[in-house]
Formats: sequence, structure tokens, C-alpha cells
Amino acid sequence: MSIENELKQRSNGVCELCGSSDDLKVYQVNLNDDGLDGNVLLCGVCNANVDSPKEIDENHWRCLNDSMWSEHQIVQILAYRTLKQLNESWANELLDMMYLDDDAKAIADAGIVSVEDAGDVKKDANGNILVEGDSVTIIKDLEVKGAGFTAKRGTVVKGIGLGNVAGHIEGKVNGVKIYLKTCFLKKV
Ligand SMILES: [Zn+2]
Repeated sequence: MSIENELKQRSNGVCELCGSSDDLKVYQVNLNDDGLDGNVLLCGVCNANVDSPKEIDENHWRCLNDSMWSEHQIVQILAYRTLKQLNESWANELLDMMYLDDDAKAIADAGIVSVEDAGDVKKDANGNILVEGDSVTIIKDLEVKGAGFTAKRGTVVKGIGLGNVAGHIEGKVNGVKIYLKTCFLKKV
């Protein structure tokens, strides 16, 4: 039997977080376990939003009030992960009531995009916030690993991109697109 059918049997054909029966799909919670204990069955809404739960109305997630007590630990783990990412007072109260052992917590935490990364505001050496399209000056000679040149102090980099590497922006130096550490830059 496929994992999907096994999960349907386990869940009686409903989303294991919210109980909806719409658009059910397998969601892997524990990336190191592709079996029944690593997966849950989720509806379309839960599936699409469970990785960034704050993007939809938080009332949808009130369902976690029930699913956090699931008899299946992997469902508890996903409920825990989602509550933690919501980081709302009601969610934190529920978290306080939950008991997960350290191994289970580690699985839950492994799926959380750290708050620091998600809300990464890029600032230059003076603490000015950098935005897409800004121009910056490099304030220290920077060896560009892999490109074989040094980005010289005083070089102006125009039209930066924010990229997706924490603490860095993207910019073109010597015609090459590179990542630059924001602490070595000054907004022009
Ligand atoms: Zn659901």
C-alpha cells in the first residue's frame, strides 16, 4: 500500500491538522523518515501554508488545539513546529502545555526557518538599512573567493540585490555578480 493510502487509513481520510477532507496530500515532517512515522496527511490549505503559517488567518490554526493531542507523535511534532512559528500568545500557551521529548523537539525544530533568517534586515556598516537597487561603497579590500580578484576598498557597487544569504547582498564587481558582506559596505 502506498504511503498516501496508509496515511488515509490512519487519519480516516481527513487532514491530520485541521480535519478537512479537501485536496489531501502527503506532507513529510521528518526529512529523515519517509515512512508512516515521518509523514502526515494534510489538506490543501494546511499543505500550502504550514511552512510559513503566519501568512494566512491565524484562526485557521486554532485546529492545532486538537491536533497537538494526536495519538501520532509525528502529528504532534508538526503541531508543535507550527505553533512555534506562529509565535502568538495563544500559540505559546498551547506550546507550554505540550510535552515532547528532546528527539521529537529536534525534528520539529529542524523544519523551522530561523526567525533571524526569515526577518533578515540587511544593514550597512553604519546600520543603515539596505534595499534592492541601492548603491554601496566597499570600505575594506575584500578577497572574492572563487573569482580570483580583490574587490577594492572604495569601489562603488550600483544596483545591489538583497539575495537570500543572511548578512550579504548581491552586487556586480568587475562585471562579476558576487555576494558582499554587508558589514563591509556603506550606503552611498
Ligand atoms: Zn488541514
